[in-house]
Amino acid sequence: MLRNDELAAWDRENFFHPSTHLAQHARGETPTRVIQKGKGVFIEDRDGKRMLDAFAGLYCVNVGYGRTEIAEAIAAQAHELAYYHSYVGHGTEASITLSKMVLDRAPSGMSKVYFGLGGSDANETNIKLVWYYNNIRGLPEKKKIISRWRGYHGSGLVSGSLTGLELYHKKFDLPLSPILHTEAPYYFRRADRAMSEADFVADCAAKLEELIEAEGAHTIAAFIGEPVLGTGGIVPPPAGYWDAIQAVLSKHDILLIADEVVTGFGRLGTMFGSDHYGIKPDIITIAKGLTSAYAPLSGSIIGDKVWKVLEQGTDEFGVIGHGWTYSAHPIGAAAGVANLRLLDELNLVANAGEVGPYLTQTMREALGAHPNVGEVRGEGLLTAVEFVKSRDPHEAFDASEKVGMRLSAAMASDGVIARAMPQGDILGYAPPFCLTREEADQIVAATVRAVEQIL
Ligand code: PLP
Repeated sequence: MLRNDELAAWDRENFFHPSTHLAQHARGETPTRVIQKGKGVFIEDRDGKRMLDAFAGLYCVNVGYGRTEIAEAIAAQAHELAYYHSYVGHGTEASITLSKMVLDRAPSGMSKVYFGLGGSDANETNIKLVWYYNNIRGLPEKKKIISRWRGYHGSGLVSGSLTGLELYHKKFDLPLSPILHTEAPYYFRRADRAMSEADFVADCAAKLEELIEAEGAHTIAAFIGEPVLGTGGIVPPPAGYWDAIQAVLSKHDILLIADEVVTGFGRLGTMFGSDHYGIKPDIITIAKGLTSAYAPLSGSIIGDKVWKVLEQGTDEFGVIGHGWTYSAHPIGAAAGVANLRLLDELNLVANAGEVGPYLTQTMREALGAHPNVGEVRGEGLLTAVEFVKSRDPHEAFDASEKVGMRLSAAMASDGVIARAMPQGDILGYAPPFCLTREEADQIVAATVRAVEQIL
């Protein structure tokens, strides 16, 4: 067996890690972390150090680690048929079953699901389909897409453009021009302190409408948003936000894409975030929770209105020219079927809806009054703590102090993984749905210890 230092040397020499400071890692200034196994909410590294993963990988291992039912379904599929494509009407029992299971769980008005590999490619699919849709409708100018600052939709060319975080644009010549950004519903950060939540919501809707009118509604195809802003800081929207946004969109014949890569399949305690907020999307993006990351698989759930036009398009123009080799990969599909069954059998969505608010509330009780805690917020099993230099007057820490990173590093050495969100001093929590109240208490206690140590 290779020693850890040998593996670390190979890692530095050969492995291009995503979202990593490449030069520091190559110089050995950031460690190689070799994760070996996982069970429930815990992972273990190669030295046997056990950690409570309060971010479920990248908020994706929703059913928890070490589920033999999913591992066995994957193995059985690989033994029987590791691969066949899904072009021109081909499928497998797993992919066809999964398409039905997804539609059975989806909000009303959804018609079909297209399977991809990850959230980024699913959003690329969505934008292509929206363009195709408007071309078929004879509206070739209606192509621009509106996303939100702080939204996260992936890091491909189009999906990275939809993402509204500077880190993902800088030096990549993004965003691409048909993509525009509008105000995020981030009351804590953006609202004038004297503004009520209701006024802030009205302001977000007014800014969206101003943008639409300035560009011309005949040029705007779709709006995309996560029900709860995720990577941009874990920010639940203020009450009434989605109703106000949807009213503007329907007035101007603009499609709504709900990016449910994080919220889909139960993280808010309902099967979809759209159910939770009364969102009526035309297209829904799914990924992570579809297989709980046991295999890569994503999807675009297409609503009736768009689907009818896609069908009409192929009658007029022939086969739709969109497909990946690995669309509906049988191993991903087998993982998805086993994962969704497990969610039901273990009642995990209900548990997320119960233990999530407990985690947020316990965190609020422990840290809400701390002079460096600006806000503790959450929805379902998504929690965030936002740190500030001072609460009154409101002042953020200087970015060079890297407060969020230092807090998450202190927690990791203490055995609990919380994510330092990429922009701002925010710790994010999105544990597996099987989290117990005792484990939630451990997460809060580790956060308190880190705060005592660093601030
Ligand atoms: N959309 C949302 C809301 C996400 O949070 C993510 C990833 O975190 C993506 C899309 C991109 O998914 P992937 O990383 O699988 O490409």
